[in-house]
Amino acid sequence: MEVPSLNYKQQEFTLASVTDLTSPDSSSLSSSSVVATFSCVNEVKELRFQESESSDGFTFHLSSTQLFKLGPLQFICVSDSSTSSAKERPFSRGVVIKFRDDKESKEFCDSFEKWTKDAVKQESTLPNGTVSANKSKFDDKIEAASAKMYFHYYGQLLHQQNMLQDYVRTGTYHAAVMENRSDFAGRVVVDVGAGSGILSLFAALAGAKHVYAVEASEMAEYARKLIAGNPLLAERITVIKGKIEDIELPEKADVLISEPMGTLLVNERMLETYVIARDRFLSPNGKMFPTVGRIHMAPFADEFLFVEMANKALFWQQQNYYGVDLTPLYVSAHQGYFSQPVVDAFDPRLLVAPSMSHVIDFTKMTEEQFYEIDIPLKFTASVCTRVHGLACWFDVLFDGSTVQRWFTTAPGAPTTHWYQIRCVLSQPIHVMAGQEITGRLHLVAHSAQSYTINLTLSAKMWGPRANQGGILQTSSCKLDLKEPYYRMSQPQVYPTQEPPAQQQDDFHIQSDDLDEVELLQHNANAQL
Ligand code: SAH
Repeated sequence: MEVPSLNYKQQEFTLASVTDLTSPDSSSLSSSSVVATFSCVNEVKELRFQESESSDGFTFHLSSTQLFKLGPLQFICVSDSSTSSAKERPFSRGVVIKFRDDKESKEFCDSFEKWTKDAVKQESTLPNGTVSANKSKFDDKIEAASAKMYFHYYGQLLHQQNMLQDYVRTGTYHAAVMENRSDFAGRVVVDVGAGSGILSLFAALAGAKHVYAVEASEMAEYARKLIAGNPLLAERITVIKGKIEDIELPEKADVLISEPMGTLLVNERMLETYVIARDRFLSPNGKMFPTVGRIHMAPFADEFLFVEMANKALFWQQQNYYGVDLTPLYVSAHQGYFSQPVVDAFDPRLLVAPSMSHVIDFTKMTEEQFYEIDIPLKFTASVCTRVHGLACWFDVLFDGSTVQRWFTTAPGAPTTHWYQIRCVLSQPIHVMAGQEITGRLHLVAHSAQSYTINLTLSAKMWGPRANQGGILQTSSCKLDLKEPYYRMSQPQVYPTQEPPAQQQDDFHIQSDDLDEVELLQHNANAQL
């Protein structure tokens, strides 16, 4: 939401009155023509209050100005310094402003928000560890209601405990840090979304010189407590409560450590925060733990799951529910169930083609590249079956100087609290062994910290006329990653044989560019 460029030059509002709170005589401007003017003078954005013909007035730098509402028509405007007298009076200045009606008051507030937002981006330097009072990059793209629920969730110990008790996850982080002590010893580390502070403590255990544990939720207070209770480590850890997007740090970091992964890797949109932390705080040759992530995908066949989902909507097929016909809502209910990605741990034998993967390099990806992720799909069916959709999971690489360690959420590997995710098609497609399955997985970020998933799978004609190239079947679905169907109550089938070893340890992150094609092929061979 940018201010249109026209408005950058100047914008005026007529006010009922303006009273200077900080002047000894509380001088006020009050007539029918007191004007507030937003303007940009020599790249500096200002707000000036002035009676139209008079030269007297008050001018505020917008980068250090805040507005507080006293009532529907009355506000206090406070600035750290004002242009006219900042030298003699290096303290704050405040004015009470009154509007003539609601409409003018609201328009002024909207403009104030837009002008200050931009002024802060360009001009302000905030003291270390403080939080900007203005709307941040995070607030611009994320709905306030979503952020509130999100940070409320992470502010609770039980949810942090849930992550700490995912021993595959926490154990892998611990190993990745301890095996790569040389990357941490004597280094400055930033823990991006520190939660309970566990990764900061690991970094301090590995000898970090100093760790900044940044956490936006109320969990920051618990992290302080936990860290204080480990005094040998506490002296090298500073907890900063605030969003990565808003806070300032006193020095650059050598290492970022974070656990920003959500379902399908990208859910929660915290990877954007991770790369923002990289751009804001990491030294040019700094390390990121984790370094790279991969989304893995493969078509699956699961008749049982398909029938289970289709059956859920059958409730709405009743024509006499206490005398009421429910069928008008059947189609909507059916669509609703098939718009939920299924989250559970499934048997890898349900996969019907070798998987492929999409690489996300955290050291290179820009924040904007996360807004839309488009993955072309191409598989070769290993069996003759009915394909019910696409199964997805992810892994991440800790590219340490000593050890490259992978953390995977693959089916058949020890289960994590992410499980796996499956996008189920309401119209399955039929394939023969050896047949090519093509399609597209298109992820579009939304303001509720998640993604809309658009999936299309197609199978070409099989048999003598296959060469004629016609598409026989195409099936699509649209899902909301924010609304998963957690299917944990179902009995899980455990693989009877050892899952194939994942050939992950020869990943060459050192190469200038990750060769995605090579990786896709490499992984297609590795995953089944
Ligand atoms: N690092 C901890 C917690 C991981 S969960 C661990 O590994 O156990 C992710 C944490 O990041 C949550 O506590 C969440 O509140 C925090 N977080 C998410 N987005 C953030 C942001 N923009 N700024 C700061 N903290 C954030």
